[in-house]
Amino acid sequence: MEVKVADVFECPQCGGNWIEEVQTNVVLSSEVAGIETEESELLYGEAAWDGGVVDRYQCSRCGYVLGSARTPEGLVAWLEKNPKGVLKWMK
Ligand SMILES: [Zn+2]
Repeated sequence: MEVKVADVFECPQCGGNWIEEVQTNVVLSSEVAGIETEESELLYGEAAWDGGVVDRYQCSRCGYVLGSARTPEGLVAWLEKNPKGVLKWMK
C-alpha cells in the first residue's frame, strides 16, 4: 500500500505536510559543462552523488526534526506515534 506523505503527516510545529531526508557524508560530482570566461564562472551540467548517511528526517518547511529516526522503519514508527499524525495504515 502506498500513501502520500501529505495524507499521513502534519508538522507539529508549522502544520506543513512535507518531509525531507537529510544525509551527510555525500560526495557530489557535477559536470563542468562550460566556462563564463569574463566572470570566471563555471556552468554546471549533470550532477551525481554517491555515499551518504541519513542524519535525520525533518519537515522541509520549518526544519522540525522527526525524533531520532534514521531509517525508513524509524520514520514509519515515528509517524505512527506522532500525536498529530493520521498514519494508521498498518493497524
Ligand atoms: Zn514544519
